Amino acid sequence: MLETPIIDELGYNEKTQKEWKITASKAAKNCKNYIRDIVDNLNLEPNPEKKVIALSLGDPTVYGNLKPSQETLESILEVINECSSNGYAPCVGYESARLAVAEYLSHDGVEISPKDIILCSGCSSALDLCISVLADAGKNHNILMPRPGFPIYRTLAESNGVKVKTYNLLSEKNWQVDLYDLESQIDENTSAIVVNNPSNPCGSVFDEEHLAKILNIARKYQVPVIADEIYERLVFPEKKFVSMASLESGVPMLICGGLAKRFLIPGWRMGWIIIHDPVNALDEIKKGLLCLSQKTIGSNTIVQGALPKILKTPQNFHDDLINTLCENATLTFDQIKDIPGLIPYMPDGAMYMMVKICLEHFPQFQTGLQFVRRLMEEESVFCLPGDCFELPGFMRLVITLPSELMLEAGDRIKAFCNKYYT
Ligand SMILES: *Cc1c(COP(=O)(O)O)cnc(C)c1O
Repeated sequence: MLETPIIDELGYNEKTQKEWKITASKAAKNCKNYIRDIVDNLNLEPNPEKKVIALSLGDPTVYGNLKPSQETLESILEVINECSSNGYAPCVGYESARLAVAEYLSHDGVEISPKDIILCSGCSSALDLCISVLADAGKNHNILMPRPGFPIYRTLAESNGVKVKTYNLLSEKNWQVDLYDLESQIDENTSAIVVNNPSNPCGSVFDEEHLAKILNIARKYQVPVIADEIYERLVFPEKKFVSMASLESGVPMLICGGLAKRFLIPGWRMGWIIIHDPVNALDEIKKGLLCLSQKTIGSNTIVQGALPKILKTPQNFHDDLINTLCENATLTFDQIKDIPGLIPYMPDGAMYMMVKICLEHFPQFQTGLQFVRRLMEEESVFCLPGDCFELPGFMRLVITLPSELMLEAGDRIKAFCNKYYT
């Protein structure tokens, strides 16, 4: 059959057309999920004989034992039935929703005004806006983040071409900030210090005195702070959460938070930024944040409409959650402290526990990664390697599972360690 080339009226010729070459942007290529990268590389295969217990996922909803409050669930149904929150909201959020957040966060000496609040799609998007508005790739800026720390700060910064430097948290001092290290990491291009309190992955909670010391350094070098307070008030009985906003520090801050953890609805994607500007230094930053918030045209309006009621969830809901987490933490800590070769660090809040793997006692394994992989292969227990938080030789356990599963996981970890400990 005779082949006739297709040439249309615009001169398109199928035969001479070159191959398409569509390349991804630098921003996309530089956007890495560090946890995924490490976990995928482990090629994990659980033991088919044993049911997997995932102590890895920082999502309190997976096992179904922790449910949102009745107020949270009802509020959404009401908002949907009222048909009152279906249109575009202002990019920073409905006035009523911001007022509700301001009231919710105004406690223990903190006074927050709705005009200083920007609602975002989860705390991650709040952090994204904060890093974007403060740090400039073209100016060779860097941000400082904790080590061990939540890798999303790095992901967000590097995707914007912003460098990341880390400052150490001290395992032997309840994971407080190594203040000397923090100070030594600051240079003329440092555009923000990220402070995460209470901490993921450590579960540590900073007291007022320690926060003041961190802020003194920030003030000395005039570096603004991005405070990730997503675990605010999620602290165990007798412990106290202190918001950075309650200190008279003279440091400009952007404080990020949201509903994900304390209200057990991470998938609903509601977060916020509080612009805390005690020395009137953030005028331009505030304008910048308003501009950036237009990129997403605001966060989900259904959840915004429900916010006033969600945030009025009674205290006993929060107390129950804290008691459950504290009981699990105690249970798992008591189990692991007696396992040879492991050192657990009792958390004071949040949803995690760090455990040190004393590799010198496990000659079978060169790295914590190998340890974690074999634990999965033999016992079907999966813990995130510390490498995901830039701290090799440790692993992070989530403490949100039903207690019988926490216990079962502890027993299996014990059997595993007894087998390989020398
Ligand atoms: C879970 C978590 C977040 C993300 O919260 P989202 O509201 O789900 O985006 C931010 N920071 C830390 C430290 C977290 O653990």
